[in-house]
Amino acid sequence: MAVNEPTPATPLPWHAPLWQQFVSLHRGARLPHALLLSGPHGVGKQHFAEALVGYLLCNTPGEMACGQCHGCRMLASGYHPDLLRVSPEEGKRQIRIDPIREVNAFVAQTAQQGGHRVIVLSPAEAMNVAAANALLKSLEEPGERTQFVLLADVPSRMLATIRSRCQHWSLPLPESEQSLEWLSTQLGNRDEAAFWFQVSGGLPLLATELATPDARALRKQLHETFDALVRGAEPVAEAARLDRQSLESILWYGIAWLEDLIRLGLSGEADEVRNPDLLPLYRQAVKNARVQDWFRLLDFAREQRRLLAAGGNPNPQLVLEAWLVRWSTLLRS
Ligand SMILES: [Zn+2]
Repeated sequence: MAVNEPTPATPLPWHAPLWQQFVSLHRGARLPHALLLSGPHGVGKQHFAEALVGYLLCNTPGEMACGQCHGCRMLASGYHPDLLRVSPEEGKRQIRIDPIREVNAFVAQTAQQGGHRVIVLSPAEAMNVAAANALLKSLEEPGERTQFVLLADVPSRMLATIRSRCQHWSLPLPESEQSLEWLSTQLGNRDEAAFWFQVSGGLPLLATELATPDARALRKQLHETFDALVRGAEPVAEAARLDRQSLESILWYGIAWLEDLIRLGLSGEADEVRNPDLLPLYRQAVKNARVQDWFRLLDFAREQRRLLAAGGNPNPQLVLEAWLVRWSTLLRS
């Protein structure tokens, strides 16, 4: 029977310098006990955190986790007693106090494998105030060989008292060429890579998410919706066709497309848009509405997205209808 060697997570090519810094701090026993990894969604925070967790739980790390020791195998099996991951419960947006109480109990124990104990909190800005306050003590006095790793897209949404107890590492964005090279390998060809890189606004991990079959299908459907609205379709009926799709994703695309429309409306330059395949629709749309109207619609979409992130919206279908009605009004004016 073939034995599968677990493959440890490795940092992305553009995070290599930061990785070197991490390894050298760790070797010098100077690694701060709480790290806050930040950067926009799609820059590779999760990737970096996984590599870091693997390294800390490896019994014989070199430049990377070895992938072969007991620690690496245990992690690869999906359960490691010295690792605790905290995220919002399924379908919820907040991290509440109960899982943080578990963190505090976990930190009070000794590591079972004699190495590090690692706590990964993601996204850290999802902690509600009670949870964040409960975490403070553990963050202040974590005990030996305890490593906190907090991930945040928008660290300014975290309590300042939590932020100030972490060392903040902002993960750098890759150069375009480096991203395209990496993406070409992921997606299998350079043209695909270039297209999705542009659509993602220069965020390579986001580009891989957008290029998955499900995401492509949603984008195609929204493209059809946009086309239908330009042709004068009934927005409420269009909203019904989008029932069960994620409102958050729909708003994400809507915002990206509005930003394109605004760029096009302001500069008239087609090469400034992120979604070149939508140009014919954009050209129709900018004929009808003024740039300030697009800005107003953009504000609406951003506000709905913020409300959604802040704790969900009681009726996503109504928001979707309101959103499409607004689009359609502008397109018909
Ligand atoms: Zn190992």
